[in-house]
Amino acid sequence: MGERKIQEILHRRKLEGSLIFSPENIQYLTGFSGGEGYLLVGEGENLLMVDARYIIQAQEETRGCRPFLLEKGIKGVAAHISTLGLRRVGFEAAGISVALFEQLQEGVVEVELVPLKEEMERLRGVKTSDEIAWIKGAIDIAEGAWEKSLEMVKPGTREDELALELEYIMKRGGSEGVAFEPIVASGPRSALPHAHPTSRKLDEGDLVLFDFGSRYHGYTSDETCTVILGRATQEQKRIYQIVREAHDKALERVRPGITLAEIDAAARGHISEAGHGEHFGHGTGHGVGLAVHEWPVVGRDSPDVAEEGMIFTIEPGIYISGWGGVRIEDMVLVTSGGCEVLTKISKDLMTIG
Ligand code: ZN
Ligand code: ZN
Repeated sequence: MGERKIQEILHRRKLEGSLIFSPENIQYLTGFSGGEGYLLVGEGENLLMVDARYIIQAQEETRGCRPFLLEKGIKGVAAHISTLGLRRVGFEAAGISVALFEQLQEGVVEVELVPLKEEMERLRGVKTSDEIAWIKGAIDIAEGAWEKSLEMVKPGTREDELALELEYIMKRGGSEGVAFEPIVASGPRSALPHAHPTSRKLDEGDLVLFDFGSRYHGYTSDETCTVILGRATQEQKRIYQIVREAHDKALERVRPGITLAEIDAAARGHISEAGHGEHFGHGTGHGVGLAVHEWPVVGRDSPDVAEEGMIFTIEPGIYISGWGGVRIEDMVLVTSGGCEVLTKISKDLMTIG
């Protein structure tokens, strides 16, 4: 996947080749899922340079490139570029540390190295039908597991037990690891948007926020459900309703051609009007694919425009320190006429027990 897009970048930037470092872009372009290696794409053959730990895996998994046994790490990459006599080579700027870049530069003094930024970030933004199917597969596994884990949502269950159970069921259900460590945050801790599960025990009347995702064919899912253990208070219902309306307003705006800043403004404007603007500190959404957070950003300053085939989240929230938080997160696919909500769990307020 992505071979044509890479060739366009090379052509536009007048490059003879480009080095790709990020595991996701390497996987996208070659199929290699080892997570460590250097990909040199060029006008002729593409070369995947890996060390001895990965050479067999690279031979088994890749398509459209030649696996190459690399010795001496980045210095070996530099030596190979010199051997090929390349003069102007791009590199994925976000995928390399300054320390490694300096070593690369020392080894290729005759070569002009051109940093590639946005174009590399955007490479995976529009999904193919295969990618969409794999993401749907990841969603199915995650949602089935979450529904099963609800049996444990009762007073006395620890957040970390619940997170572990959810992870276990996802893996049993076919998830390749997890997309990220599941978040289970209860009571006042639900006010921490990226809380780590703790030994806190669930209690009657708690908001319980779950943020979870699985991985299928390398592709991730990401969804947040906030439920209430026991009877909901008026204030919990009110806050939930504001977030729900903000979420729905953002969803309604999604269609090709709309700026992602407008989608963000739909959710943010609603929360601000309700007097909770200061309690919604993060962006409305992000792209999801081989990485759970990837381009594009659905945020206040996002200059990008929705395109058919993009998949991103819509996840407004309200977080009140000492009280708790509500986030509602779904994944959407931009379609020609608007969007398809890929996540299936109902976002009506759910009370348990
Ligand atoms: Zn999430
Ligand atoms: Zn998310």
